[in-house]
Amino acid sequence: ADSSTDFLERLASVFSICLENALNHERLKVVGLTDPLTGVNNRRYFESRCQDEIAHARRHNLPLACMFLDVDKFKRINDSLGHHAGDEVLRNVARLIKLQLRSNDVIARYGGEEFVVLLPQTAIGQACDIAERIRSTIATQPFQPLPNENLMVTISIGVAMLPSGSDGDHSTLAQSLVSVADASLYQAKETGRNRVVCAEVA
Ligand code: GH3
Ligand code: MG
Ligand code: MG
Repeated sequence: ADSSTDFLERLASVFSICLENALNHERLKVVGLTDPLTGVNNRRYFESRCQDEIAHARRHNLPLACMFLDVDKFKRINDSLGHHAGDEVLRNVARLIKLQLRSNDVIARYGGEEFVVLLPQTAIGQACDIAERIRSTIATQPFQPLPNENLMVTISIGVAMLPSGSDGDHSTLAQSLVSVADASLYQAKETGRNRVVCAEVA
């Protein structure tokens, strides 16, 4: 009886070390795929997930929308209020974008003040409505990046759809989806900012 208790105790301690290792491994993986400033996914995660979503959309013949979002005149915010305030604005922009998304949508910080969103199973009309909702939520809500400092912030958004029946490898399709959304974003900037531009569906 004594030796079996001893055996179980040893087994439990080996098991707990294994569990701790597995948890640490998972924690590291999550940290490596998360943007530390805003807490949303980082570009590395997005690039891999985008290919998975493209594969899924093609396999099941489902629509897939992509949004590219960029804070307007963000450099001015940094220049006038400092980087700390700029960081606070970025955290809030990420939070407000996330509030408009469903749980299976994917948001990531793509670079400095740029975010990218994937909307699985979403047609163009619906994607543009969601983009418009994000734009107006951000534009109508005062930010408070510093105590007693109210600030209005706007963003511009480009929307693109994965072309139906698209050929090519998933990595090339992912790059072209993002660059079509980016081109629409560029048009939104060129035509006055604080607006949504949806690319024509191919
Ligand atoms: P536009 O409307 O054309 O997008 O103008 P913009 O000022 O937003 O664009 P620009 O590319 O000139 O400036 C982006 C700025 O974002 C410059 C850079 O210093 C700032 N930035 C990038 N990453 C961070 C960050 O992590 N924190 C802060 N506070 N600023 C950042
Ligand atoms: Mg930018
Ligand atoms: Mg910008």
